[in-house]
Order: sequence, then C-alpha cells, then structure tokens
Amino acid sequence: MSTVAQRVASFGTTIFTEINQLAQQHSALNLGQGKPDFDTPPEIVEAVVQALRAGNLNQYAPGDGTPALRQAVADHAARFYQVEVDPLRGVVVTSGATEGIFAAILGLVDPGDEVIVFEPFYDSYVPNILMAQAVPVFVPLHPPHWQFDPDELRAAFSKKTRAVILNTPHNPTGHVFSREELSFIAELCLEYDVTVIADEVYEHLTFGEAQHLPIASLPGMFERTVTVSSSGKLFSATGWKIGWVYGHPALIDGVARAHQFITFSVHHPTQEAIAFALNLPNDYYQDFRQLYAEKRDLLRSALDAAGLRYTVPDGTYFIMADYSALFSGSSVAFTRYLIQEAGVACIPPDSFYSPAHAHLGQGYARFAFCKSDEMLHQVHERLLRLRR
Ligand code: PMP
Ligand code: GLN
Repeated sequence: MSTVAQRVASFGTTIFTEINQLAQQHSALNLGQGKPDFDTPPEIVEAVVQALRAGNLNQYAPGDGTPALRQAVADHAARFYQVEVDPLRGVVVTSGATEGIFAAILGLVDPGDEVIVFEPFYDSYVPNILMAQAVPVFVPLHPPHWQFDPDELRAAFSKKTRAVILNTPHNPTGHVFSREELSFIAELCLEYDVTVIADEVYEHLTFGEAQHLPIASLPGMFERTVTVSSSGKLFSATGWKIGWVYGHPALIDGVARAHQFITFSVHHPTQEAIAFALNLPNDYYQDFRQLYAEKRDLLRSALDAAGLRYTVPDGTYFIMADYSALFSGSSVAFTRYLIQEAGVACIPPDSFYSPAHAHLGQGYARFAFCKSDEMLHQVHERLLRLRR
C-alpha cells in the first residue's frame, strides 16, 4: 500500500541524481549536474569561517535574511542594473534559488491559476507549480537559437494567467533573452496583469557581446516582477544554498509570508560571507566571466572533435548539443551510450519538457562546462576516441 500523497506521486528521482549514480558506476567524466568541480574562492570560504567563529552568528538569522546580506543584494542590483531595491521590505533570503522560486509561486499564485513556462525549463518549476495546485502552460523555445514564437506566446496568455516564469540566461539552452524578447513578454504581462518570476541565477554568466538584462528593469515591470538569484553559481558554492528574491515590497510580502513557514530562515554565518562576496569589486565579476568564457571554448572544441553540433551559448555554463549526426536513438539512450562507451556524462533534456512535449528535446543532450580545464581536456580526448 502506497502512503505517498497524490501531490508527489508522479514525481520521480531527479535526473541529476540518476545521472550522477550512472556516471559514478562507469567512472565517467561528469558533465551532467551543473556543479563546479573546483572550490569556492578562498577569501569567501574564509569569510564563512570568520562568521562561524564570531560567536554571535550561530543562532537563527532574521527570517528575511541578515541586514548585511539584504543590503548587499540591494547594492548589487543598483550597481549592475540601476534597479532600486528596498533592503528592508524588498528582499527575502532563501535556501537557494530553489526555495526562492517555490516561495514565490506559493506566495503569488492561487490554486487554479495558470503559470506560463518556457520549455525546456529548469526541472523544479513544474513540480512547484503542481504543488501549488496551479496549472503550467508551456511555450516552446525553438532550436537552433532557442527563441519563442511571439504568436505562440501571445496564445498562451489568457484571463487565467497569473504568472510567467522567465529564466535568463537560460538553463539548459544558454539563450540570453534580448531586449526585444523581454519587451514583448513585458507588454503581454502589462496587458494581462501578470507577475513575472524571473530566475536569474546565471546573471553574471554571459559571453562576448551578450548582456544580461533583468526584466525588472524594463518600464512598468519592477512593480510586477520578483527576481530570484543565488550565490551557488556566482561564487562556485552550490553546496551553501544561499539564494534571494527581490522586488517591489507588495510582491515580496507574498514571498516572505510563504518563506517564513517553509524554512523560516537560512544558514546564518554563510549569509554574512555572501554579503561580503556580493560586495567584491567589479574585477571579481569580470574574472569570473573570463574564466567561464575559456571553459566554454574548451567544451566547444571537445564537442567539435566528436562531431556534435550546437548553437554557441551566449550565457550559463551549459551547451545543448545536437547528437543526431553521431547517434540515432532517444536522448536517454544517447546519454547511456556516451557514459558507457566514451566515459562522459551529460543530461538528457527529457525532464526539462512536459511529458506531452518530450519529443521536442529528442536529439539533444546538455553538457555542463563548470569543470576544471583538466577535465575538459580529458573529455576532449575521450570524445575524439568515440569518433574514431
Ligand atoms: N534555477 C536554475 C535555472 C538553475 O539552474 C538552478 C540550479 N543550478 C537553480 C535555479 C537552483 O539554484 P540553487 O542551487 O541556488 O537552489
Ligand atoms: N541547477 C543544476 C543543473 O541544472 C542542478 C541542481 C540540482 O541538482 N537540482 O544542473
């Protein structure tokens, strides 16, 4: 007899856990989960150690986050995007962006409301929407450039639409939404009185000419957007799970109400370290981007060596590769083949699509390049062998 609630009965093990296990079994180089294999910068680690030893930060933090971190989030938005955020009433610190997104949905969407999601999507969005008893409505991003069709987006909006989840730079495709695309989304949100939940965890990972533009910075949008971000990617500290949501106090009020009964507050000493890290000078952010631009090129040459095709991503640390020249079969079959035959793990995008649209992701696999240069060179060698 199953005692599992209906709410979660359809949820399987996440693809990241599944692939990690398979990669380990076959000693594969793991370009699956978006998790750096190099450490957090030592000065940021040192800031946590100091906070742990300070003697007054090991008890519950204020529910909405420490004053220092909320101020740092507001200062960061002002420094990079000229967006003015109230550090007291306009920021909530959460357990990673994952909790931020869930708290935003629970705090801003009612049962039965529709939530528009671009497909492929980060895998927690749809389970979050379903747990909130809301209804996901899907709009595809079309390869090779992973853009939406304006008519398809317009058709997805209705009187029932309450929110849009917008992830830019976009996981898994690496697409950075342009000003034109964001303006089109914004116009529809204004017309239909819709809230945007903007997932911007890759905000500092853009390459070349591409620039991240927060939708909250467009005219009329601050009042209807909550922006979610996280320290995991930016400070190579995915294990710390410190994220935040910022926006207009009227919306953040809803997020904060949900957050206080999900986690109440998150790890106190680490918040102080992330406040320090967010305040690092612009050099940190430039070096971070440069580091990843080089890693992106290493992965590109490895994929080229294997004969995999892809659109060069403008952002994130992922490449969605088209394997059809190399392998005929499903994305899951290709992933297994690559792990077993080449010793390289990637992610089949099936979990990033609703079951009805899973066919749209067939022929693609996602590779993460948040890995040491050494590993990326080894991947190159292994993929080359596969081609031979
Ligand atoms: N959103 C996106 C698009 C992500 O890729 C991730 C994780 N990599 C998250 C949210 C979750 O972030 P966190 O680890 O801070 O919970
Ligand atoms: N966000 C990471 C990715 O897309 C994984 C996070 C997770 O394991 N849930 O790879």
